[in-house]
Amino acid sequence: MNDRRRFLLGATSLACTLPALFTPGVAHAQAKGTAARTEAITAWQRRLRAILAKNRLPIIDLQATYVEGATNVRQMIEVMDELNVAQIAFAPANAPNGAPSLNLHRQHPEHFIPTTSSGEFPRWWRDPAAFLAVTRKDLESGEYFFMGEHEFRHYPSPEQVSAGRNDRDITIDITGPAGHALFALSAEFNVAFQIHYEIEDRLLAPLESVLERHPNAKVIWCHLAMIRYPDRAKRYNTDYVRGLIERFPGLHFDLAVPPPDAIYQPSGARHSTLFTNGQLDAGWKKLIEMHPQRFMSASDYRPPVADQYPNQINRQRQLILDALSEPARQLVAYGNAWRLLTGSPWTG
Ligand SMILES: [Zn+2]
Repeated sequence: MNDRRRFLLGATSLACTLPALFTPGVAHAQAKGTAARTEAITAWQRRLRAILAKNRLPIIDLQATYVEGATNVRQMIEVMDELNVAQIAFAPANAPNGAPSLNLHRQHPEHFIPTTSSGEFPRWWRDPAAFLAVTRKDLESGEYFFMGEHEFRHYPSPEQVSAGRNDRDITIDITGPAGHALFALSAEFNVAFQIHYEIEDRLLAPLESVLERHPNAKVIWCHLAMIRYPDRAKRYNTDYVRGLIERFPGLHFDLAVPPPDAIYQPSGARHSTLFTNGQLDAGWKKLIEMHPQRFMSASDYRPPVADQYPNQINRQRQLILDALSEPARQLVAYGNAWRLLTGSPWTG
């Protein structure tokens, strides 16, 4: 802020640029959040360094849904310590705003990242514009570092299928007002966000058009290569994803996917196409090594599958991270997440 202010004070002849610099978001948020932000980053750095000092690979887990009262926080902290998960970005669901995540961070500053609301519950589907107005308010406080997962196309997840919950079949047009508002928020506040967007041929062009319109948005497309209906996804492959990476510098992917042999019951498909014969597929491995800055480990924690958290983290390590070269592994486990959260590369 100081540099910005000095620049502005010295730039009276550029007065006409002031309105553009003082967008309601960034300047305000930076001024308000500076001390808390520095403290938070220092706490995360301390914990990452402690894990690295033990010669263990830390993971920053950016895809997790927090439900206050349902998430067993004490148990999660124990598991994180045991599995060397440095931080979790817990996006709150079933809450009026991001406050539960911020409170969690205040209680356990080294473990949790203040994250705005998860777009995985009715407040998002029913009125995405109102939802994003709340997110904007949260971001303006300067205290949030990340935005939760927003469902634009979502098929019922395996546990929802088992429970007969077809209400979780969600469609929100990504090229509509909600899509544009979300991508614009990310660019304005320089805060990354996640999308849940099923892989379907007909959905690819709309996503590309939004990415084209918002080149400064920082997007994480969750669940790389998780294809639930293969007959609807003929065009998606490593070449297609490489093309997207080369066209869109803000586009990232997370690796929170089901186990290699998992079957998506409604289609009967083996939906984790990231794996072949139980291993990281050679083509995907090659692409991750080619663009290691764009991929990230993640768990997709949510309370109904909390007991699977250790398995999910162990799979990330054994099937993905262990298969990568050392530089790629460091980026995918925590380096990329660190850069997206703090705006700077991890330097130790
Ligand atoms: Zn998801």
